Amino acid sequence: MNIILLGPPGAGKGTQAGRLVTERGMVQLSTGDMLRAAVRSGSPVGLKAKAVMAAGELVSDAIVSALIGERLDLGDTDAGVIFDGFPRTAQQAAALDLLLEERGRALDYVIELDVDEAALTERVVGRFTCGHCGEGYHDAFKKPVVPGVCDVCASTDFRRRPDDNADTVAIRMAEYRAKTAPILPIYEARKLVRRVDGMAHIDDVARAIGAILDDRLAH
Ligand code: ADP
Ligand code: ADP
Ligand code: ZN
Repeated sequence: MNIILLGPPGAGKGTQAGRLVTERGMVQLSTGDMLRAAVRSGSPVGLKAKAVMAAGELVSDAIVSALIGERLDLGDTDAGVIFDGFPRTAQQAAALDLLLEERGRALDYVIELDVDEAALTERVVGRFTCGHCGEGYHDAFKKPVVPGVCDVCASTDFRRRPDDNADTVAIRMAEYRAKTAPILPIYEARKLVRRVDGMAHIDDVARAIGAILDDRLAH
């Protein structure tokens, strides 16, 4: 099973991908996470990506497509892959088709998280993650059960992304509208798109995605 989670910044892609990893043993391929790791390590890719990400613009298609190709070849993706934050342009969508075809794989679904853009800035600006295990949280919508302590690993080390501020979010939204939303019709023509209400409670969004995947497995 290979699926794409598609939606603007804050739609809940990372949150839902994390659930699928825990509940179904799928592998999450987040180009945002890969790029942040590259920036931390100071690799050539990281050096190129750092300023672009800080500005809320898109990193080059060649860089992110290469990251995905390398990741698909690590050999731990047989149970299924969730593409989170990739593809983001028509060129990346074409690159993904080729990468999958070369490996004898195909896309099963493109799950579109349908969200109210006005609510997304609050989601992104209130986002933080556990610095130890990566679990995602929100100041208002998903607080740790014990304040200041990660539910999953009990770490007290939380992180906020430097690009999760209102100004950068506005640019990232504009990038989504201009470059990413236009790839939906490509997948609609191939009857791959399934729309899920991304404004519902996190658990209900997870249930809706689960039902789509179960339906696939049953047929
Ligand atoms: P994306 O990966 O699409 O940018 P995230 O999964 O990181 O989005 O979610 C953004 C923020 O919104 C996080 O802080 C997350 O806890 C919160 N969040 C995710 N899904 C929901 C939801 N359905 N309702 C309320 N808050 C949510
Ligand atoms: P979000 O889901 O909140 O938008 P991501 O973690 O997916 O954030 O991406 C963070 C930043 O990393 C983006 O604003 C962009 O600069 C870069 N990035 C991530 N994925 C891609 C991609 N597929 N193509 C180009 N740039 C990307
Ligand atoms: Zn943790």
